[in-house]
Amino acid sequence: MNTPTFSLCVYCGSRPGADPAFAALARTVGEWIGKHGGQLVYGGGRNGLMGIVADATLATGGRVVGIIPKALVEKECAHHGCSELHVVDSMHERKRLMAEHADAFLALPGGIGTMEEFFEVWTWRQLGYHDKPVGLLNQNGFYDSLLVFLRSSVQQKFMADWQMDLIRIDADVHRLLPALVEAAGLAPAPQLGAI
Ligand code: AMP
Repeated sequence: MNTPTFSLCVYCGSRPGADPAFAALARTVGEWIGKHGGQLVYGGGRNGLMGIVADATLATGGRVVGIIPKALVEKECAHHGCSELHVVDSMHERKRLMAEHADAFLALPGGIGTMEEFFEVWTWRQLGYHDKPVGLLNQNGFYDSLLVFLRSSVQQKFMADWQMDLIRIDADVHRLLPALVEAAGLAPAPQLGAI
């Protein structure tokens, strides 16, 4: 494969979730990355939505960089089919390497691991540690109640509007994916087939 046109770090559940629509969403994200000549950076596991995004990226010709702490290789079923699998010493190293490899970040539905990673790259952005786009995919209103809470934090003056404006929130995957890549100053390769 040629050099990837963009590298997208995806945070998502190590479980599939209750609604099969989440698995379908993860597949769509992986297929979009692969069909647009991109690279997925993720936590390197086979479980849940994580494994689905990775498999869909690989199946459509994309590169996949998995980064997993050695303590989680068995627990999260490390994906040995990745184009590159980095087994690292700690969670901190995993997160640092994921951030370094990415042009942009996207959170899909997930649990506390997903939210921790999403909040970290968002807070790093507000502190100026990076200036890469950060997206939240709010499919089927999955993150609605979190967004209500965050907006109430703005009303309570623990947050400012400009901090909310640092993240792109969208329920439409086909709008959010190109927007993130373009905001990173990159262009996805023309799609080879319909997904
Ligand atoms: P979850 O959203 O809880 O299913 O977890 C998704 C991914 O986040 C998994 O690969 C977890 O290993 C990872 N994760 C869990 N806790 C943390 C953490 N404190 N920091 C970064 N990633 C985490």
